[in-house]
Amino acid sequence: MKYDYLIAGAGFAGITAARLIADVLNKRVLVVDLRNHVAGNAYDYTDDNGILVHKYGPHIFHTNDEKVFNFLSQFTGWYKYEHKVVSRYEGSDYPIPVNMVTLNKLYSLNLTNAEETKKYLDSVTSGIGNPKNSEDLMLARVGRELYGKFFERFTEKIWFEHPSKLAPNVCGRINVRFDDDCRYFTDKYQFMPDKGYTKMAEKMLTHKNIDVELETDFKAVNKNTYSKLVYTGPIDSFFDYIHGKLPYRSIEMIFENHKEEFYQNYAVVNFPGDEPYYRITEYKRITGGKSDSTTICKEFAARDGERFYPKRTIDALELFNKYKKDAEKLKGVFFAGMHPYFQYYDIGQVVAQCLRSIGKPA
Ligand code: UDP
Repeated sequence: MKYDYLIAGAGFAGITAARLIADVLNKRVLVVDLRNHVAGNAYDYTDDNGILVHKYGPHIFHTNDEKVFNFLSQFTGWYKYEHKVVSRYEGSDYPIPVNMVTLNKLYSLNLTNAEETKKYLDSVTSGIGNPKNSEDLMLARVGRELYGKFFERFTEKIWFEHPSKLAPNVCGRINVRFDDDCRYFTDKYQFMPDKGYTKMAEKMLTHKNIDVELETDFKAVNKNTYSKLVYTGPIDSFFDYIHGKLPYRSIEMIFENHKEEFYQNYAVVNFPGDEPYYRITEYKRITGGKSDSTTICKEFAARDGERFYPKRTIDALELFNKYKKDAEKLKGVFFAGMHPYFQYYDIGQVVAQCLRSIGKPA
């Protein structure tokens, strides 16, 4: 056999798996991807104005895991970056996650420390013990009013589904803060790859044991050329949709270049109101480019189109469990990344998952 492993998907799951198998196990690997580039949804490129942009929406690297950071540091230098997001409600910008600053600004309060902030939030939250959906969870975290302003409509706008129909960990990704820390993440390592994700991905794949074929469906690869498979795509597609299609949501993006130094005060502004888009990202603020102009991206929610986000409704999880049972019976097939688990993971989580499992395959 020409290859020990076929890897379906050249996103960060496939790339990390490939590198580990090639390096740690010293096995031959073929990586295939349907798209015409590597790096999956983290793919970035320099646009006509010299600004590094993310084709499929902003991907911010953050991890608490030293192993993840050290592993990736073999393939890139880093640019120090701490992400900040605001939500524009009735013309004013409020920090997300909700924190002391959000509350003071919204209600003209004068909370001065975490204890006072916690006390205030305790007085408005309903304290639901075991939240069964995203609405229950956010009511318990921030209370009815903040949930309504910043989460309920926003979530419905992007998911086409009320938060009460979505699993708790959909909105659960956003915590609540009691202090004035306005960063989106609090992880120990918050950096961006200094030459971008695509360059980092290409370096990970540059290895004597790794071949890459783009615009290739793994189902079209001759089974006699490999013995094991690492699959990183959607699980329903792997099984040819035998139990039905898992719901995903898609996104549409419009890039615009503006002839001004900066367009907005933050890297990302969320729009929970009537605007047709749900967020605007200004890439210079994330990737640190120097240019006379600035490139922004308006993101719109789309029901159909490329499958970006697993839509973890309660019903969808039942369907997913059928595929999960089928997957557990397979031999010689390994699953990596977010899609096979029908679960949204950050790059750091995907790399951590591969580091945990690869090197000890069955
Ligand atoms: N969310 C929200 N309001 C916000 C930010 C997030 O309601 O201002 C909800 C929304 O449902 C979203 C989820 O929280 O899907 C997770 O947000 P996150 O920023 O992690 O999504 P990402 O940008 O990673 O897709």
